[in-house]
Amino acid sequence: MDTKDKTDIRALSKEAILAFFTEKGEPAFRANQVYQWLWQKGVHDFESMTNLSKSLRDLLQEHFVINHINIDRQQRSTDGTLKNAIKLHDGYVVESVLIPTKTRSTACVSSQVGCSLDCTFCATAALKRMRNLNADEIYDQVVAIDQQSRLYFKRPLTNIVFMGMGEPLMNYNQVLLAIDKITHPEGLAMSPRRITLSTSGIPKMIQKLADDGVKFELAVSLHSARQEVREQIMPFAKQFPLEDLKAALLHWYATTKKRITFEYIVFKGVNDTDEDIEALVRFCTNIPSKVNIIEYNTIDDATLSQAAPDRVEAYIAALNRFKISVTYRRSRGKDIDAACGQLANKIDL
Ligand code: SAH
Repeated sequence: MDTKDKTDIRALSKEAILAFFTEKGEPAFRANQVYQWLWQKGVHDFESMTNLSKSLRDLLQEHFVINHINIDRQQRSTDGTLKNAIKLHDGYVVESVLIPTKTRSTACVSSQVGCSLDCTFCATAALKRMRNLNADEIYDQVVAIDQQSRLYFKRPLTNIVFMGMGEPLMNYNQVLLAIDKITHPEGLAMSPRRITLSTSGIPKMIQKLADDGVKFELAVSLHSARQEVREQIMPFAKQFPLEDLKAALLHWYATTKKRITFEYIVFKGVNDTDEDIEALVRFCTNIPSKVNIIEYNTIDDATLSQAAPDRVEAYIAALNRFKISVTYRRSRGKDIDAACGQLANKIDL
């Protein structure tokens, strides 16, 4: 069988692997062994499955492939941030970032090759969406960054954020499958509380997340609580009015009891007036939430710029006044284009 006609074994459930072995007259525990190799030990070939006989390894080889990712290039920032260009089996490249602090190692992972949304401030938007990542391609990024964290910082990964390339809720099933594997005892057994999915805010899908009973954290890229301003910088938001977003977030909170984090950049001359601040305060008062103000990272062809420090201060003061929790996030990895919104496979262009 030609390699390209073979099934990627990691697209199979444990039950499907079991069915394969049963059909071949092999005992059930073989499925467990293979599953462990694939998801706990993260091997990239059948030869490494050393507790299987040579003939069994050959049998697997005959029927399946393991489409693993390859780290094509690594760049290290002066602040310790590590950016990986990850080559997929079909040649596409995505980026994933390891962000270390004193006590944490956070993996920032991609969910799509490019992105179908059109946020004017984000470098990934210029790439268009090429395809969705499979669950195993998302999982592999986490495994690779976990290994890097152990190697360079002598500790396992502590947190995962879906803030790399793509809109995770536009690749809903594969992202959730990957998170299942990341949190499952037979996978990486990470606590879902250490995982944050960041979305540009697609109301129907947020509703679905809540109904599906997910246990991870949710961040929403808000950037403006005024519909006309939000549409200006996030044109796709025309289809998703803030009123619908608000309803979905209230449903999320009622179901999960988890506060939402709003990500917010203050742009000069766009959303830096008192009116903008009041709108945000109003939005947050209605929805149990906290605000993470993030620094704007310049991208190529940028027409936008970061607002003056006193406007950011005004936001923080107003939110404080209304007892809405607010943090200001400094960017990491800017010198290697690894910061938020800068992931655009630049080395490939
Ligand atoms: N599509 C998802 C996740 C990817 S972006 C989302 O929109 O949330 C991760 C975060 O980086 C988002 O909050 C996004 O708004 C922000 N971001 C995008 N471009 C940026 C830039 N140039 N500078 C700073 N943050 C940016």
